[in-house]
Amino acid sequence: MSKVNLIDQPYALEQIKGLGPKRIAVLNELNIYNVEDLVLYLPVRYEDNSIVDLNEAEDQSTVTVTGEVYSTPTVAFFGRNRSKVTVHLMINNIAVKAVFFNQPYLKKKINLHDHVTVKGKWNRAKQEINGMRMFTTGSEDLQNADGEQLDPVYRIKEGIKQKTMRDIIRKVLDDIEIREWLSDDLREKYKLESLATTIRALHYADNKKELLKARRTYAFTELFLFELRMQWLNRLEKASDEAIEINYDLAEVKKFIDDLPFELTDAQKHSVNEIFRDLKAPLRMHRLLQGDVGSGKTVVAALCMFALKTAGYQSALMVPTEILAEQHAESLTELFGDRMNVALLTGSVKGKKRKLLLEQLENGTIDCLIGTHALIQDDVSFQNVGLVITDEQHRFGVNQRQALREKGAMTNVLFMTATPIPRTLAISVFGEMDVSSIKQLPKGRKPIKTMWAKHEQYDTVLNQMTSELEKGRQAYVICPLIESSEHLEDVQNVVALYESLEEHYGAGRVGLLHGKMPADEKDDVMQRFNRHEIDILVSTTVVEVGVNVPNATFMIIYDADRFGLSTLHQLRGRVGRSDHQSYCVLIASPKTETGIERMNIMTQTTDGFELSERDLEMRGPGDFFGVKQSGLPDFLVANIVEDYRMLEVARDEAGELIQSGKFFTDEYEVLRNFVEENLLHTSFD
Ligand code: ADP
Ligand code: MG
Repeated sequence: MSKVNLIDQPYALEQIKGLGPKRIAVLNELNIYNVEDLVLYLPVRYEDNSIVDLNEAEDQSTVTVTGEVYSTPTVAFFGRNRSKVTVHLMINNIAVKAVFFNQPYLKKKINLHDHVTVKGKWNRAKQEINGMRMFTTGSEDLQNADGEQLDPVYRIKEGIKQKTMRDIIRKVLDDIEIREWLSDDLREKYKLESLATTIRALHYADNKKELLKARRTYAFTELFLFELRMQWLNRLEKASDEAIEINYDLAEVKKFIDDLPFELTDAQKHSVNEIFRDLKAPLRMHRLLQGDVGSGKTVVAALCMFALKTAGYQSALMVPTEILAEQHAESLTELFGDRMNVALLTGSVKGKKRKLLLEQLENGTIDCLIGTHALIQDDVSFQNVGLVITDEQHRFGVNQRQALREKGAMTNVLFMTATPIPRTLAISVFGEMDVSSIKQLPKGRKPIKTMWAKHEQYDTVLNQMTSELEKGRQAYVICPLIESSEHLEDVQNVVALYESLEEHYGAGRVGLLHGKMPADEKDDVMQRFNRHEIDILVSTTVVEVGVNVPNATFMIIYDADRFGLSTLHQLRGRVGRSDHQSYCVLIASPKTETGIERMNIMTQTTDGFELSERDLEMRGPGDFFGVKQSGLPDFLVANIVEDYRMLEVARDEAGELIQSGKFFTDEYEVLRNFVEENLLHTSFD
């Protein structure tokens, strides 16, 4: 996807001399089809064959040393086809016996007083080296003058040997002409090599310093080309004529704000201002609103949707689960009063009801539509949608986001997320998407106290919960299943937990919620929990996102080590939604280092931004969003987490090139054509 083209016309493997169909077939299995693929088939690691001083070498370690031959080698044959060549060497003033098993041909290659390099296992007590390789004078493998050597090690398959791979690649490298993508100025400014030197060094670096420089150059090239695409795409998108200006009625919006049951936090006000500025501008809004769980994003969304209405436009809010859709519909209806006509469209809205709803959507009776991905079915069409908001957007497939955006041709888009996206990823996944952050909780909120308990402490935890319930509070007990994999036995686990709690607290005080229940039952139990008809809700992670019951102040997460940090943080965010002190108890007996670390991190911080950075570190960028929907470009060398400073530099340089207009001059024609060809391949959808 984010390949860097190196060669104008990469020729086929068949044209490499001495490479037969059998080996070509094996190379094909490794996804190598032409010489470009071949030289971009980078070593998975390098064998360090740098020469060391034997006096400093560790006993029993593999060493590469150099010295002089001072006995004529002898060879002894034994058993069937087995042999041993023995030769005495003087290495760093140590008399060493070197033995080579099953390499009888070495006898002929080694002469008295030759200077040789030997790689093998060092046995200090016996002063003996069990030789693996012997480089004699004149051998092309012999170390360079500094005595450093890194030999490439490729991932290979049966049918092709490491040595063959090395030989083919070396031969091709000598034969091809590699183009240059970076200008001399850029290379000079950041002390980068030419691509030709770089590619060679990635296979055959003379030393580690050279290899590092090559990796830097290649990574920068990848990031720079990627950023050129991103920024060009962004420029094209923003400049689109179809973008609409939303001329909202500020006085009306202000009145609405005054009528809210609370005062907006400064952070909320700030975000509202940023979004409103975008709405009014003749550009398409493409903004991410990130705020920790409980920071009050919903009301910000509500203000935006209301602003749209005052300008004569509809809006849509898409959320990942039915429960969340219902909650939002309910709380927004309450918030808007008779200001807005809110409608809910989920998979369970069917038949006549659905038909009527679609009609009202098309004739403009409905001001704001809330729903799950049912919103993006083909027969759903708006009269004039001017804003699309997605909540907890990272849980959507990117395709769904795209489809939703297409509903309103080129409309304004606001992504909301409570999984703060580390800046590094925001840049790479969303390109130049603008970001608003609510880094402040509403007044009076106390940080949630998080504790980690082992399974055998369960009774004590239950006692804690009991005392919270006695204060008139409510509690969640979460059982570990991931929605998509609700197997029967897992469901039985939740049910068993539910039954045991019902026994403990008495029938009627406990409710059960899991993804396999019919929608109306789910709805019913949520309502009862909302109205405080039940004290405890036993649930799977379906409550993970958005659910809002401020009186709930206690949460138990069972087998917490089965969740990732982000999920745990999301779950925990269901409590701590009022000015009462809230608690979260993680019950886990993790066996792995990572599991233990996760539990510790959770008890140490409630800051979602910090957690997401830690999560990213622990899991890597691919896993962060789930590999499939990550939309992350697969770089060969660059790593957007580790190389994120470089990504920033690449972004600035690419931006400068495009904004200055230089990119559109003749000088950059080839680069421009290349970037343009690949423009679409970088889109995230
Ligand atoms: P999230 O950002 O997690 O979606 P919500 O929008 O659900 O958060 O808000 C969490 C709770 O805080 C809701 O009950 C909401 O009414 C309340 N809330 C939002 N903004 C404020 C505020 N400025 N002051 C007090 N309470 C607020
Ligand atoms: Mg929310």
